[in-house]
Amino acid sequence: MVECPNCFKQTEFKRLCSHCGGIVIHTVEEKFNLLAESVEKVLKKEALKRKKKRDTTSLIWILVLLGSVVLFIMGLDYIVKL
Ligand SMILES: [Zn+2]
Repeated sequence: MVECPNCFKQTEFKRLCSHCGGIVIHTVEEKFNLLAESVEKVLKKEALKRKKKRDTTSLIWILVLLGSVVLFIMGLDYIVKL
C-alpha cells in the first residue's frame, strides 16, 4: 500500500489511485520520467515563445531550471544509493 499524492488515502501499489484515479508515482525512474516530461514541456513552450519574440532573459531562466533539475536528479540518486 502506498499513499496517493492527490487524495492522501492509502491505495494499492499500482499506477492509478483507486480512490480518485490520480497518478501514483512509486519509483525514482517514474519520478525522473515525469520530471523529464515537464522539462520537455517547458522547453517546447519556451522554444515557441522565442520564435515569436527574441527574448534572452527567458534563456537564462531555462538554464537555471535545467541546473536545478540536474541537481534534483543527482540528489535523488544519492538518496537512493544510501
Ligand atoms: Zn487518490
